[in-house]
Amino acid sequence: MYPFAYTKPADTGAALAAGARGGRYIAGGTTLVDLMRETVERPGTLVDISGLPLDDVRVTGDRLRIGALARMSDVAAHARVRSAYPVVAQALELSASAQLRNMATIGGNLLQRTRCTYFRDVTAACNKRQRGSGCAALEGFNRSHAVLGTSDACVATHPSDLAVALAALDATVHLLGPDGERGVALTAFLLRPGDTPDREHDLRPGELITAVEIPPHPQPLRSGYLKVRDRQSYEFALTSAAVVLHITGGVIRAARVAAGGVATVPWRLTAVERRLVGARPSERLWTEAASAAADGARPLRHNAFKTELLKRTVERQLRTVGGSR
Ligand code: SF4
Repeated sequence: MYPFAYTKPADTGAALAAGARGGRYIAGGTTLVDLMRETVERPGTLVDISGLPLDDVRVTGDRLRIGALARMSDVAAHARVRSAYPVVAQALELSASAQLRNMATIGGNLLQRTRCTYFRDVTAACNKRQRGSGCAALEGFNRSHAVLGTSDACVATHPSDLAVALAALDATVHLLGPDGERGVALTAFLLRPGDTPDREHDLRPGELITAVEIPPHPQPLRSGYLKVRDRQSYEFALTSAAVVLHITGGVIRAARVAAGGVATVPWRLTAVERRLVGARPSERLWTEAASAAADGARPLRHNAFKTELLKRTVERQLRTVGGSR
């Protein structure tokens, strides 16, 4: 470890002032401290925001607002989350380990950095760590990397399960900074790499995430999250699928499907959704809709298996959530 300054502001205003001076926010610390130990990240000042009052989970009308500092384990256990949005509870419970879920926060989960091994190896070329230095994964071992949303500069996957569930629920990220409050759709907040893979999100200097909000959805709502990985615990997704369906009168009225483990950001499967809306649930429909899950995929040398695995993951989760007829 190297020397750094540490401050713990008493209120949000003081935290924003410290952030505006270039301080780096930290709460659970489950990603950042590891990266600092490995010298992948070297912030000069840590601004500890863990004491700010941003940890409530609130139901307002039909909206669910989750404070950015709520712990993953607390949100997964929340009665309203479990009953109304099982896709969120499942995505959280399939993440990391129990110990990490007890520490890690919702805002930190969205901002966690990629698990690309080359990103964490400071001797390897990595455009995300140092823009313009190259990408060791392109010609290296890229079995776990992305097949969707990639660029010639970066092919790293976004590691969050929660973000996939929230993308399927059209969640909004609420931000607070020197210029006031604003809300951004999660799918717009997390950025594809393009030519600037070091820029991963739409946070402006000094801004912090205050909450994530799930908007009203037509009822009844069925949802669920499936994660496929090399081992059944404490592992990142090879593929995952978040499925949210509104079915009445035997017809799918609304469908939202998102994939994880395969893309540089949580990936909405709009081609799959289009095939579902207006159709009647059936075995044939699940297979036919899931066949579009990997549209546009660009496999690398070691991860071509992900395109077929993604289709099967989506098909299985459509069947689980939508039911068999
Ligand atoms: Fe870096 Fe992205 Fe290439 Fe991994 S895939 S080495 S994170 S540029």
